[in-house]
Amino acid sequence: MNEIERIMALSDAFGPSGFEDDVAAIVRAELPEYETYTDHMTNVRCEKEPDSDKPRIMLDAHLDETGLIVQAVKPNGTLRFLPLGGWAASSFPTSAFQIRARDGRLVPAVVANKPPHFMSSAERDKIPEIADMILDCGSVSREETVQQLKIGIGSPAVPDIACRYDEDRQLFFGKAFDDRIGVACEIETLKRLYDEELPCNLMGSFSVQEEVGERGVRANAAALKPDAVICFEGCPADDTFSEDYMIQAALRRGPMLRHMDRSMITNWRFQKLALDTAAENNIPVQESVRSGGGQNGAAVYETFGIPAIVIGVPVRYIHSSNCWCALEDYEAAVELAVELCRKLDRSTVESL
Ligand SMILES: [Zn+2]
Repeated sequence: MNEIERIMALSDAFGPSGFEDDVAAIVRAELPEYETYTDHMTNVRCEKEPDSDKPRIMLDAHLDETGLIVQAVKPNGTLRFLPLGGWAASSFPTSAFQIRARDGRLVPAVVANKPPHFMSSAERDKIPEIADMILDCGSVSREETVQQLKIGIGSPAVPDIACRYDEDRQLFFGKAFDDRIGVACEIETLKRLYDEELPCNLMGSFSVQEEVGERGVRANAAALKPDAVICFEGCPADDTFSEDYMIQAALRRGPMLRHMDRSMITNWRFQKLALDTAAENNIPVQESVRSGGGQNGAAVYETFGIPAIVIGVPVRYIHSSNCWCALEDYEAAVELAVELCRKLDRSTVESL
């Protein structure tokens, strides 16, 4: 696959938290140069120079996407669900989903919205609670849903949208760029540096269950024992609803380097190294200080005391069904990571 095809395949892959197998399979297939290991959580990891004593630099991206899980089947065949990861209730009504049935088939469904004809005037202005929403796969009975469609308690679902790429504008439209665009960045960085003599031992971590509390990365970091971590994220773009002076993650302005979010105050020495590296190489970057959000770097920083930075590719409308991201931001994120890895020798890593 070329880079565009790879990004599209990753976006389309079914992989809500806890069900990342299809995404992990793409990662393994796209990294034939590396010997990959997949653990029982479905975390994937690899190492460029397993026997070296160079500083250990772990690249990380998470395989999972926000989705749903079926909690109960109602007598009329519709489904109650819980969100997997952080969803705004307002993103659900009328959104199309695909549910993975027990036999592996993907079944289309919609989060039902009561037609306006049946709404009271109070209901029209109000978003229902997620607990009151239903997922409807067109079934008329519990039996049809469970016996015929093989959907039941525990069936996972993700937004039903096929990725599209606008060649002229070099722009993607699809789901799950948080964090499949990060996964694509990591695969490409590992590939570009595979044949290069580096001052560090490059390691790949593709982590599961980030969206439900950074769970997989802890297992990857415990196994790989990194000295520093570079996290690739699909981060929320803010350029369509922020005042100009507050925009910190716009499309087409390069990756975002995050000084702070709710989970981490980034190690300022590592952050400065990344900003300086971008400036030296004329790579566009954006800086942010966020009141919300969290990511895998924080889990590793906090658990092992290892410095981590986040290279975030701006994605409009993450944690919903329909998202935009630009090829040039992906490309700049890869370039920045490549240049950083070329610099991370023993003394640089120790100075962080
Ligand atoms: Zn993410």
